[in-house]
Amino acid sequence: MSRYTGAVCKLCRREGKKLFLKGDRCYTHKCSIDRRNYAPGQHGQNRRKSSEYGIQLRAKQQARRYYGIGESQFQKYFLMAERRKGITGENLLQICESRLDNVVYSAGWANSRAEARQLVTHGHFLVNGQKVDIPSYLCKAGDVIAIKKSSLDSDKFKTLLEANKRVIPLWIERSEDGAEAKIVNLPTRDQIELDVQEHLIVEYYSK
Ligand code: SF4
Repeated sequence: MSRYTGAVCKLCRREGKKLFLKGDRCYTHKCSIDRRNYAPGQHGQNRRKSSEYGIQLRAKQQARRYYGIGESQFQKYFLMAERRKGITGENLLQICESRLDNVVYSAGWANSRAEARQLVTHGHFLVNGQKVDIPSYLCKAGDVIAIKKSSLDSDKFKTLLEANKRVIPLWIERSEDGAEAKIVNLPTRDQIELDVQEHLIVEYYSK
């Protein structure tokens, strides 16, 4: 399935909640959810009561859109989560969080996950000293992610490091100069910000 390239604010409006897809704009009065919190389209304001299936579908779509993951990749993660020990829903979110693009975003090196994905693709990061340019690369506890030395000198990263004031989650430890981040542990559910009931996603895929 191809990646969605339309207006991302419509995705938030469709889900009826902020998915924080646009970086700084999401925290300002310009956020579309604050101005027009109803689904896009002609019938967007006529919200109908959702069926059980509809509620499960929305939970799955919210998680998928929040992380910017395509349907088939998300299904693969679900199968992977089922095979892991522990609670499948939590495993699923943990897998999504451990993607390199999400780690780059969470470490404060990008204003949105979409920007993080682009920076990874352009080869700006090293994982344990090796260049990795695959956004879906799954990081592990103990991995050290670093901005490439040549990239650090660019205006882009100088500005990003100076401007970014986002709180770094506890499962990531960023070096004092901001150029490196170590994954202390893969995040537990209470360390994951996504406001979704993951058991609904499990129910969706278990039908
Ligand atoms: Fe979603 Fe951000 Fe757009 Fe608000 S500004 S609707 S949170 S993407």
